[in-house]
Amino acid sequence: MTACLGYGALSADAELAPIRFERRALRADDVSIRIAYCGICHSDLHQVRNDWRNTAYPCIPGHEIVGHVAAVGRNVTQFKPGDVVAVGCLVDSCQVCESCADREEQHCLKGATFTYNAKDRQTGELTYGGYSDHVVVRDRFVLRVPPSLDLRHVAPLLCAGITTWSPLRRWGVGKGTHVAVVGLGGLGHMAVKLAAALGAEVTMITTSPAKAADARALGAQHVLLSTDAAAMKSAGSRFDFILDTIPSSHDVNPHLALLGRRGVLVLVGAIEPLAPVHGGQLIRNNRALAGSAIGGIAETQEMLDFCGEHGILPNCEMIAMRDVNEAYRRLLANDVKYRFVIDMSTLAAADSGSVGG
Ligand code: NAP
Ligand code: ZN
Repeated sequence: MTACLGYGALSADAELAPIRFERRALRADDVSIRIAYCGICHSDLHQVRNDWRNTAYPCIPGHEIVGHVAAVGRNVTQFKPGDVVAVGCLVDSCQVCESCADREEQHCLKGATFTYNAKDRQTGELTYGGYSDHVVVRDRFVLRVPPSLDLRHVAPLLCAGITTWSPLRRWGVGKGTHVAVVGLGGLGHMAVKLAAALGAEVTMITTSPAKAADARALGAQHVLLSTDAAAMKSAGSRFDFILDTIPSSHDVNPHLALLGRRGVLVLVGAIEPLAPVHGGQLIRNNRALAGSAIGGIAETQEMLDFCGEHGILPNCEMIAMRDVNEAYRRLLANDVKYRFVIDMSTLAAADSGSVGG
């Protein structure tokens, strides 16, 4: 076991605070990573606050991790100390089921092991995420960071990047596709950048008029205010593909009405019940409503390599570890442009009177 310093919550209504805990000793196929930066996903906030009623405490979140290899287990041949690497939402899976064979480890039939708030497959111990000084991960779940990318900005690709890349690719978004992205936050801003880089014509659908200029700078050709009923009506049946990143329950019917013939609306944001869907909205134009969960490991590497080739990076606001609670308040208040990233070199300075985990 190795001593680890992290930052997490002891209950749903507690602020995040320093926590001392232990990581497992390296198994033969493990990689130990010294964490340099970790992004803050809205899922971290949902999990810490127990919004999904499944949080085990202490909860140490963080699944947008980049850093350097510190040590490797005796059977690891692909990585060596000093390598620049990344870890996303997954740290293990069974590797033999149909989903794993199809390289969709997130849908492992035996249950994927998520980076935090999951159980280690061998010991059953709770997993802890990237708001910490180091992490121990099975080698197959470690990604390589293209050297052309500035490491300070890479972390959000590991969740916001792959979660938007995967559905864009699965539904064949490219030149000639009319795409709309709903919600300009962490996921939404990556969706705009990636869809634009794939050659699509992109429209940003937002509740925030003040974000229009940013949406255009990120690569959107058009901006649609979802609160403008007349504009929404005139955009009816216009899009081939809509990616909906709204983080809470909402009515998807107004967005379904924007889909043209055989158009697809893919939900990635609201992991909870939705307002009732009107059957007529689906039947008209042969529309489909689908969902998508992160992406597999090979697909995540493909996305990182694409970003390396095209120079695509998230827009990050770097924060110190001790400012994470304020960052959560701002995330809830829709005040982030467009992803908070924690500089993990500030973790030790935030450690005053840490508790055991
Ligand atoms: P975020 O940074 O908070 O962005 C969400 C955006 O949605 C906001 O910036 C806002 O954009 C819009 N929005 C917020 N509340 C809204 C409301 N009540 N009605 C309409 N629009 C609203 O969040 P994120 O990190 O991108 O995450 C988004 C969601 O995806 C979270 O629920 C997260 O848990 C989930 N998620 C899912 C997966 C997956 O695998 N499917 C992976 C990661 C995250 P505007 O100001 O432009 O309206
Ligand atoms: Zn996430």
